[in-house]
Amino acid sequence: MITLGSQGKNTFLEDVNLKSGANVLECYQCGKCVGTCPVSQYMDFPPREIMQMVKLGLRNECYMANSHWFCLTCSACSGRCPREIDIPAVMEAVRHLAIDENYINDSKKVKEIRKFHEIFLDMIKRYGRNYELRMMAEFNIRTRNLFKDMHLAPKALLKGKIPLGVKPLKSAKAIKRMFAIAEKLEKNK
Ligand code: SF4
Ligand code: SF4
Repeated sequence: MITLGSQGKNTFLEDVNLKSGANVLECYQCGKCVGTCPVSQYMDFPPREIMQMVKLGLRNECYMANSHWFCLTCSACSGRCPREIDIPAVMEAVRHLAIDENYINDSKKVKEIRKFHEIFLDMIKRYGRNYELRMMAEFNIRTRNLFKDMHLAPKALLKGKIPLGVKPLKSAKAIKRMFAIAEKLEKNK
């Protein structure tokens, strides 16, 4: 459903542009972003279609798509966009707006990606950096898939690809404070 504001404005386009700092109207649908995106085949709608949906004000459809959850923020697309649109920022803006407005795609894959985000942020909050071994263990526990990729663990450990422990960064305390400020701002929104 196309949703327009009371003045007949495309408020979704305005919201996304404001949050992302991009101008989605600049997109002329060439599709280069789709050809470069490493995960477009897993998305309900590839980046070009997400751009068009934003331009059309298809707020709910955009929120419920899995595309912004699959986006890796790798910027391969924006590097080739002839209009120099910051496509990952647009994807991120859609993701944040969808969370703020409580529109969450509840497919298994999106739930797993959300858990991955939460655990990753938790690692950064605790140690100021990622702790791969703990992250993998927590992810398997929280997604109830205890033995996922376990066969790879011995080889990765022996080759030193996954360190057994983690040394928190010197700036870990400052990062913790940053999280506290962000959480406070989030509550007062
Ligand atoms: S590459 Fe840029 S202009 Fe082309 S479809 Fe993608 S976002 Fe639009
Ligand atoms: S930033 Fe997102 S949309 Fe762009 S190429 Fe990477 S994964 Fe695809």
